[in-house]
Amino acid sequence: MKNYHLLDEIQTDLKLHKVSCLELVDHHLQVIKDNAQLNAFVEVFEEEARAQAKVIDNKLKLNKAGKLAGLIFGIKDLICYQNHRVTGSSKILEGFESQITATAVQRMLDQDAIVIGRQNCDEFGMGSANENSAHGLVRNAANNNHVSGGSSGGSAVAVQANMCQVSLGTDTGGSVRQPAAFTGTIGLKPTYSRISRWGLLSYASSFDTIGIFSKSIEDNARVLEVIAGKDEKDGTSSTELVASYEADLEPSKKYKIAYFKEALQSNGVEKDIKESLKSNIIKLEKEGHNVNEVSFDLLEYVLPTYYILTTAEASTNLSRYDGVHFGHRSEHTDNLESLYKNSRSEGFGKEVQRRILLGTFVLSADYYDAYFTKAQKARKLIKEATEKILEEYDFIIIPTTPTTAFKIGQEHTNPVETYMADLFTVQASVAGIPAISIPVGVDENNLPIGLQIMSRAFDEKKLFAISKCLLKDYKQ
Ligand code: GLN
Repeated sequence: MKNYHLLDEIQTDLKLHKVSCLELVDHHLQVIKDNAQLNAFVEVFEEEARAQAKVIDNKLKLNKAGKLAGLIFGIKDLICYQNHRVTGSSKILEGFESQITATAVQRMLDQDAIVIGRQNCDEFGMGSANENSAHGLVRNAANNNHVSGGSSGGSAVAVQANMCQVSLGTDTGGSVRQPAAFTGTIGLKPTYSRISRWGLLSYASSFDTIGIFSKSIEDNARVLEVIAGKDEKDGTSSTELVASYEADLEPSKKYKIAYFKEALQSNGVEKDIKESLKSNIIKLEKEGHNVNEVSFDLLEYVLPTYYILTTAEASTNLSRYDGVHFGHRSEHTDNLESLYKNSRSEGFGKEVQRRILLGTFVLSADYYDAYFTKAQKARKLIKEATEKILEEYDFIIIPTTPTTAFKIGQEHTNPVETYMADLFTVQASVAGIPAISIPVGVDENNLPIGLQIMSRAFDEKKLFAISKCLLKDYKQ
């Protein structure tokens, strides 16, 4: 069976009886088996997906199928699906079964999408290479010796290698956009609060978003339309009207676009990535858009601000995993304190432990003002400076990542180097604005390059339109 690029093509073929949902599911199950070495899925819902396909094939016969009929999707192992396991790729939640279904997943199921499995990720979303997973690392399908990116590495590779049509990942500081760039897929981080966080295991609650991986802009837009919007179960979800994202995907005018001169000047950015940014600037200018260089002198503060605030939030959020309420409980204890200590020491991986310690430190009474309060002030400044640029410009374009996918094993030498992989993605997370990564070519080693586009809050529709314009002649 061919690998479909667009859900629209799938639905046309379903109507013409050229294919059935059951055949689609069987095909994807086979692709998942054939690519087992990539380690993208930690669990495949084989029988369930087949049973669901039969139900939807029947609905199609009766003309009663929903908007996402024929769409096979996977979910990151940080997103809950009732009566199914969810572990956050952590030993501390080994064997834990979810009692709820995330609103985003439920909304997709309600529109007849079929969930095919649970996808590998960095432990609790902390990482940029998917090497911090209790389920083992994920390999990039473009080159198996290179990382998938992270933290939603399994979700990215699953779409890259056609194991599913769409994946739901999570993005706190780039975990959808960065692996999307590394795998040549499309990855959207919507505006903070656009998609309900209900049913998402928290990492840093004021940054966390659910995000969407897809092969096409159209599929991404349709899924966002289905899952976005107010949810009574998440008080922070926005009441802002959900636009019809998929309709009229053409740019509605000639846009004003900014790019940061720092991205072209920085030594840390690979040559091929700079070249790719330049050629996309030229492409946009040829389309009649107005592209200008601007300076963003707060760039060097974005990463420390992000890591101080997210580790602080993580240390609080992860305190619930104490060996008493959830998951792993140490057997080597003789009192309450050692129960907590040993359960957490045995259950959490090294990176998560590092961040809990760091977060606890920045929140401690003696250092609170020096780090946490200061980082919150910096966040406000970064947000305001970003919004100021976006008052004048419709978009900011910037490489998604300074490098293409690195070799497996590289990150262990220095964690701060790995944090640098998030240099360009964390700005949108700190500011709460939407950003998308689109595939714009490959480097000299044939590894994918991503371009990131940011816009004003709730301007996802415009992001899709400009992305489609840029992807026009790009052959994936
Ligand atoms: N790589 C970043 C981190 O480790 C982003 C993670 C994410 O977005 N979940 O924090």
